[in-house]
Amino acid sequence: MAEADRQTVEETSTQQAAETTDGFHLVIDALKLNDISTIFGLVGIPITDLARLAQAEGMRFIGFRHEQHAGNAAAISGFMTQKPGICLTVSAPGFLNGLTALANATTNCFPMILISGSSEREIVDLQQGDYEEMDQLNAAKPYAKAAYRVLHAEDIGIGVARAIRAAVSGRPGGVYLDLPAKLLAQTLDAVKAQQSLVKVVDAAPRQLPAPESVKRAIDVLKSAKRPLILLGKGAAYAQADAEIRAFVEQSGIPYLPMSMAKGLLPDTHEQSASAARSFVLQEADVVVLIGARLNWLLSHGKGKTWGAEPKKFVQVDISPTEIDSNVAIAAPVIGDIGSCVAALRAGLDAGFAKPSAEWTGAIAERKSKNLAKMAATLDKNPSPMNFHSALRAIRDVLKTRPDINVVNEGANTLDYARSIIDMYEPRKRFDSGTWGIMGIGMGFAIGAAVTSGKPVVAIEGDSAFGFSGMELETICRYDLPVCTIVFNNNGVYRGTDVNPTGGKDVAPTVFVKGARYDKMIEAFGGVGYNATTPEELTKALLEAIASGKPTLINAVIDEAAGTESGRLTNLNPQSAAMKK
Ligand code: ADP
Repeated sequence: MAEADRQTVEETSTQQAAETTDGFHLVIDALKLNDISTIFGLVGIPITDLARLAQAEGMRFIGFRHEQHAGNAAAISGFMTQKPGICLTVSAPGFLNGLTALANATTNCFPMILISGSSEREIVDLQQGDYEEMDQLNAAKPYAKAAYRVLHAEDIGIGVARAIRAAVSGRPGGVYLDLPAKLLAQTLDAVKAQQSLVKVVDAAPRQLPAPESVKRAIDVLKSAKRPLILLGKGAAYAQADAEIRAFVEQSGIPYLPMSMAKGLLPDTHEQSASAARSFVLQEADVVVLIGARLNWLLSHGKGKTWGAEPKKFVQVDISPTEIDSNVAIAAPVIGDIGSCVAALRAGLDAGFAKPSAEWTGAIAERKSKNLAKMAATLDKNPSPMNFHSALRAIRDVLKTRPDINVVNEGANTLDYARSIIDMYEPRKRFDSGTWGIMGIGMGFAIGAAVTSGKPVVAIEGDSAFGFSGMELETICRYDLPVCTIVFNNNGVYRGTDVNPTGGKDVAPTVFVKGARYDKMIEAFGGVGYNATTPEELTKALLEAIASGKPTLINAVIDEAAGTESGRLTNLNPQSAAMKK
């Protein structure tokens, strides 16, 4: 072939290559166009190349050891940023592992998108037995806010846009996006492909409350003698921090943060009624719920927790169907929290009087009594450590680093840490959430570290840690500044149960005694500490945080410390024989 001819052939083939693209590239282009820069996932058929390409195209791909944790990382990233976190999995089992996290995200109102590769539709629908065959779309539907499948590469742009909008608009939640293997390999004209992409405009539009709903709420507030504000994680998610603080301070109303709303105002704020929680829930006559649902975490708004007198509720929420879900709501205010709280604040006019000194004084009195009681408990120095003495040590270190993200799960470890560890900044506490689940630990820790670039301290019960412990390798692989503290009391709840038959098997709640979780992280190049006293724990934690390296502290807790099911003993039916 003449030189000139060869050049022409080469030019034409480069041109052709430049003129076509495929499903793999389009998925990445669509995500990038919408400012999504990180994917949490686990590779395998058919999405390995999608992950490789994402990395090659400048996205961050964080690879996990189990999809559930990748999904949890994506979900917490969504909560922190208001952008959907992306989790990428293989088909069938990988998808199902990710689905647990998707369901949890939907339940908690966290925006995330689970993208799973899937087998060929023709074979799945005829149930002909494909590799990892599963009707994933229908499996996802009941557990997702929305679920979509894309069959043609030219629809990828629209598919991703719909997924983003569904995840973040209105009440946020989990969205499933099904991408069959064949779709990813489809080629199409590059120009047409670019034109098919959609940049989502105003994905979560403000939703202004109706003026009459605001007036009704203000009227109810004006009628209150003992008002209370209850801040939920929806309020934290909304990123209306200044507006919420101004409303609380201007109204002078005492407030209670739900666990993931801690830090929205610093826990040390004088209007915080956390240390008098039972008292204010029982005694308040008007309760303003801001981004908090009256679910089991709030005893459904009724019963002993809420005292003898019926309450009047004002509820600020983006979801109209949340209203009256458990008890009657006197004044619903529907809209986004920023707009609603701004409108309520504007309504605090001359006719509004701050709560009486009688009410705030009674709360202050109860608070100081309870705080003194707690201080006495925290000051004890039993050997071995108990939950309180270990948490005192952690609390004192974290007080000096309000920027640190805190992940927390377990039964007793969760219950005690929630009330003992103060938070000072918004969206820094990530925990078991609406389901009260175990297993979010390392996924949330990795998601929080990657998303914020700040250190994470994960306070973990030994049982809770077990669900995601293998992700220590992920933490080490990406050299993340995560310090995991395992509260090791040798078992689920505690380690003292015995097998009543005297048989060889230990009791169902018991683990290996004296396990050294700190050795696990050493296997991957991280640093492990074994702490048997509060002093050792303080020293280890300070060192761990200062190092900015992956670390794990095995905190040895008295195996007799810990209550069955933590504070949820009432939810745990026990057989008559076991009660004896
Ligand atoms: P917690 O568990 O802290 O009590 P929940 O998860 O029960 O909080 O409640 C969060 C609520 O916040 C949900 O009802 C959700 O619809 C609402 N929500 C989430 N984001 C917003 C927002 N931006 N504006 C208004 N409401 C929101």
